[in-house]
Amino acid sequence: MIYVALGANIGDRAGQLSAAIDEMERVGLHVTKQSSVYETAPVGYIEQPSFYNMVVEVKSRQSAEELLKTLQQIEQRLGRERLFKNGPRTIDLDILFYNGEDIQSEHLTVPHPRMQERAFVLAPLAEIAPELIVKGRTVTSWLDELPRIDREDVVQLSLLTNFVK
Ligand code: ADP
Ligand code: MG
Repeated sequence: MIYVALGANIGDRAGQLSAAIDEMERVGLHVTKQSSVYETAPVGYIEQPSFYNMVVEVKSRQSAEELLKTLQQIEQRLGRERLFKNGPRTIDLDILFYNGEDIQSEHLTVPHPRMQERAFVLAPLAEIAPELIVKGRTVTSWLDELPRIDREDVVQLSLLTNFVK
């Protein structure tokens, strides 16, 4: 199993998530499951737009390193359209989990190093892979362990689902 987290906080956030999934399919990554979209309220700076986050399950023969390159190309393609150079990206694509592999290279750490602290990752992941064991525990138990205030910052948006055609 491979799980990828998607996040967007600029422009048409739902559109960017949808476009990223379309691109993943177009370049041969098969998106086999997708979570709902979750909105994460900005903490601290109120001027910052909230994030839209989701997680997808992917089937691919690419190695983790190849997959990272593929995802970075998609980030660049989607980010180039509206944004100035070095501006914030429209889309962030992170590899959360890759077939249970433990990877620590210069470019890549898998499982994602901060995923167990992030409600905006664990909530959508728990929706599509509640029993998946990451870093010795199920996704659900990692999520349950987070402070309530963190979990409450992440709101499921029921209207924005099923981007995969
Ligand atoms: P972040 O995702 O932390 O907000 P970036 O998307 O800019 O920041 O990623 C910074 C770097 O993180 C990438 O250049 C990539 O090489 C590295 N990286 C390490 N582990 C992962 C992972 N599991 N998934 C995606 N990128 C990763
Ligand atoms: Mg990233």
